[in-house]
Amino acid sequence: MTKKMTKKEKQEFRKMMLERKERIIRKLSEFINESKEVETNVAQDVVDKAESSYTKEFLLSLSDTERDQLMLIDEALRRLDKDDFGLCQLCSREISRKRLNALPWTPTCINCQEKAEKES
Ligand SMILES: [Zn+2]
Repeated sequence: MTKKMTKKEKQEFRKMMLERKERIIRKLSEFINESKEVETNVAQDVVDKAESSYTKEFLLSLSDTERDQLMLIDEALRRLDKDDFGLCQLCSREISRKRLNALPWTPTCINCQEKAEKES
């Protein structure tokens, strides 16, 4: 079993997640500006409409991924407040520190993630 997470470590994870969150929000607002441009282009050039709506869909799907990540970050920040940060939400085992350093907002341990990937 890994040693209990120190206050300092928690603060570092919180900082990492808040920074990531800020970056996504900034990117999302840039994306919103971009999709407005895409719509203007569609209005201006009806001939290219098919291509533009494809682009729009692609951009929308991208933003879904970032929205998902935002949600995961918010959940992880709540877990930090409740003091159960770093525990797998599926099997309740501790998530390895190496995995948390790479993906602090991850809700699952590597075993559960691999299992989920095999099943899908
Ligand atoms: Zn697990």
